[in-house]
Amino acid sequence: MDTLKKKKQKLILRPPIVAVLGHVDHGKTTLLDYIRKSRLAAKEFGGITQKIGAYQTEVQGRKITFIDTPGHQAFEKLRARGAKTADIALLVVDACDSVKPQTVEAIKHIKKAAIPIIVAINKTDLPSANPERVKKDLIKEEIVVEKYGGKVAAVEISAKTGTGVSDLLEAILLVSEFKEIKADPNGPFTGVIIESSKDKRRGNIATIIVKSGTLRVPNEFYVFGSDKDTVSLEKVKVRALFDEYGKTVKEAEPGKPVEVLGFNNIPLVGSLVSEDEKLSQGETVSQTKKEENKAEGKMLKVIIKAESAGSLEAVLDGLPKEVQVIYKGIGEITENDVTFAKTTKAFILGFNLKPQSQLIKFAEDEGVKMRTYNIIYRLFEEINDVISYLSKGPQIKILGKAKILQEFATSEGKVAGCQITEGRIVRGDKIQLIRREKVVMEGRIREIRERKEKVNKVEKGKLCGITIAPQFDFFIGDMIQSYSIV
Ligand code: GDP
Repeated sequence: MDTLKKKKQKLILRPPIVAVLGHVDHGKTTLLDYIRKSRLAAKEFGGITQKIGAYQTEVQGRKITFIDTPGHQAFEKLRARGAKTADIALLVVDACDSVKPQTVEAIKHIKKAAIPIIVAINKTDLPSANPERVKKDLIKEEIVVEKYGGKVAAVEISAKTGTGVSDLLEAILLVSEFKEIKADPNGPFTGVIIESSKDKRRGNIATIIVKSGTLRVPNEFYVFGSDKDTVSLEKVKVRALFDEYGKTVKEAEPGKPVEVLGFNNIPLVGSLVSEDEKLSQGETVSQTKKEENKAEGKMLKVIIKAESAGSLEAVLDGLPKEVQVIYKGIGEITENDVTFAKTTKAFILGFNLKPQSQLIKFAEDEGVKMRTYNIIYRLFEEINDVISYLSKGPQIKILGKAKILQEFATSEGKVAGCQITEGRIVRGDKIQLIRREKVVMEGRIREIRERKEKVNKVEKGKLCGITIAPQFDFFIGDMIQSYSIV
């Protein structure tokens, strides 16, 4: 059956899917807006497009699909679940500003995605524009444009006036042809979720870009919404399809972005969708993801649940790179999540959720660590503490410092005459004796006296006599540092 399908497969060029990246203010949005407004694929609809996350434009009778949210954060989000969404990356560089930190960052992301790059040197309408400088600066980032013997097309444009934009679109089509970006419209349907939300009237809704095959009403397909192949799939029956003009359509061919109605849950951006259950779980996809995680040395496995798609994305966006999210979802934490956390040895983090006491008990019984937060920075703070603990071992927190100014010999041993220079010192505190910035001894505070009176605590600025245990031959100039272990 499979071989039959393969034999019949007829690949034809499909519209390339283009993502726009570059430094802030270099003109990504202006370019996307210019193309959207000036070159609509279907002018007959009155020229008003809906924001569905992507749109198509037409050049010489051929279509190009642009992902509407520029920037490498959005680009990474689409890659987060392993789906390869964009076929071509369009790097916008300001001809006056040249290569900037986010340009470099964007190049890194594009290289990781291993897709062809085209450079749009923008704002060439401005007198201070210097496209040659941009080309030279890009060489330092190992992007060598054709003029300098490389393979990367660079097109000089003005997103404001539109100069050069047609050339840019033609360059995209050339790359698309050269790279043979093809699909079989009659093959099995696969696609990628590029946006999702809950609509009061229409229910859960998501924009899918079709990558191969054709999506039709009332087809059924699966959503694979997690990084982990053990997570169950959701089956969706297409209730309705809308194009970027808000118009109902019956089908969507490869390269086309469509809004899809019929989801039981809000799917995650970057999820793969496919009519073939196995295809959507894609061996290669989860494999690459696992390897990437390994390569990046992730060390903290977490399951993340949040009350809404927005919160979930906010949490995911702010997580440090050491965290490996093995499952994420919207809605209350369930017993399944706890069981999954147990088998994968992961923590559960909940945001804006209130787990029931039964569930808290279940997690405790299963030995699963579960934390919930209402304030996002607290969540990040605690995660960073855990990562720091895992990477560096326990950390010490300095509670107070005392400088030894004098020494007194008593029948019970040496007493240090000190001034508190930082924080406070409390009887019983763990201490380190510091000499020339090195720890020479560790012990405890045995006694503190202020003018002969025994006290439990001395604060910054105060003079006092301190006895440390065990006895140690300290010198004037040494520091006593009290600490706790975090
Ligand atoms: P983004 O942050 O990369 O999306 O940049 P924007 O598209 O928001 O553009 C930043 C600023 O540059 C805006 O004020 C735009 O009007 C301006 N801009 C963008 N493209 C051009 C251009 O080609 N020429 C000129 N003169 N200004 C531009």
